[in-house]
Amino acid sequence: MNRHSKHFDTICVHAGVEPDKVTGAIMTPIYQTSTYVQESPGHPKIYDYSRAGNPTRTALEVSLAALEGTKHAISFASGLAAVGAVAQLLNPGDHVLVCDDVYGGTGRLFRKIFSKYNIHFDFIDMTHAKNIEPHFTKNTKLVWIETPTNPLLKLIDIESVAKIAKKQGALTVVDNTFCSPIFQNPTDFGADIVLHSTTKYIGGHSDMVGGCLMLNNDDLAEQLKFLQFAAGSVNAPFEAFLLLRSIKTLSLRMKKHHENALLVAKEMQNMNIFSEVIFPGLESHPQHALAKKQMRGFSGMISARIHGDFDTVKKYLSRLKYFSLAESLGGVESLVNHPETMTHASVPAEHRKKLGISSDLLRFSVGIENPDDLIEDIKNAAKL
Ligand SMILES: *Cc1c(COP(=O)(O)O)cnc(C)c1O
Repeated sequence: MNRHSKHFDTICVHAGVEPDKVTGAIMTPIYQTSTYVQESPGHPKIYDYSRAGNPTRTALEVSLAALEGTKHAISFASGLAAVGAVAQLLNPGDHVLVCDDVYGGTGRLFRKIFSKYNIHFDFIDMTHAKNIEPHFTKNTKLVWIETPTNPLLKLIDIESVAKIAKKQGALTVVDNTFCSPIFQNPTDFGADIVLHSTTKYIGGHSDMVGGCLMLNNDDLAEQLKFLQFAAGSVNAPFEAFLLLRSIKTLSLRMKKHHENALLVAKEMQNMNIFSEVIFPGLESHPQHALAKKQMRGFSGMISARIHGDFDTVKKYLSRLKYFSLAESLGGVESLVNHPETMTHASVPAEHRKKLGISSDLLRFSVGIENPDDLIEDIKNAAKL
């Protein structure tokens, strides 16, 4: 189903959720079942087995498609299961261009698992779309981008990359996790497949793990649905229910993440302890103009470098009260992460160094608490 309203707050509340036909229950029930009784052999009513399909998951997929404004959405057990499903479209000998500071787990999946099947990955800087042109080979099938990237919040021009990829006969996949569908819809700029780790903003409450793919192409959707069913990394009915519940407040939460992060980032810019504050919503961000072009909001992720050594960083982290030191992001509660030793520890050290993921770098996921408390926390922790 396509968006039935132009307005995200309405889509979030209504899309995918129909009152239960038997009882009128306004919320989609959790169909906690593995199998379905058939009317006669080979004639199920609608569903036959929950790996193949489940009504709670169907409601979620309708809702997710409406959020991205795509024809199809396919949900998975985790963001990486969704990444894996796309990679399983490839054949031995195929080549993929990946943005250089891609999510650590995505890079690990490509480097450690899919490269065993003779699929080749090149990790390149895509902040200037034209840079990618010389890297295409006759076997390049996918261009994999994230924007903003993680953790350096570099932006990639989706429209330019998708145009170049298309000319070369490759599909463009955009991991849209950092923006959520509320702030950026890559298919509007020519991307073929959109991916989210629903663990993050879409789930938003740090209580489940999930992923999804959204796209318009029917053939490709058919292949990916087959992979969802045949490879089996589906999400459970309860997770689907939690996501349906979360989506109702997604628009509201994203507005608050955006507002809080903008206030916090501006405040951090004035603090001596930080040598650099990276946030697409700041005019000092080198790609602020692109951010304004392809994002409707700047989301809640800020990266910053601290003056001092790793001991200073550890001391700073230990003094934060509201920002909990944890991996993950996009939840209602504020988190802080040290990419070098946490989320990006699996990135080869040499590659990390080249990217600038050094021990002074911190990544903040700004929650929906009162911004005054968050700013005070960041200031107090700086009194080392
Ligand atoms: C977390 C994350 C993933 C992986 O998702 P999981 O749900 O943890 O498997 C992929 N991409 C980005 C940008 C992420 O932040």
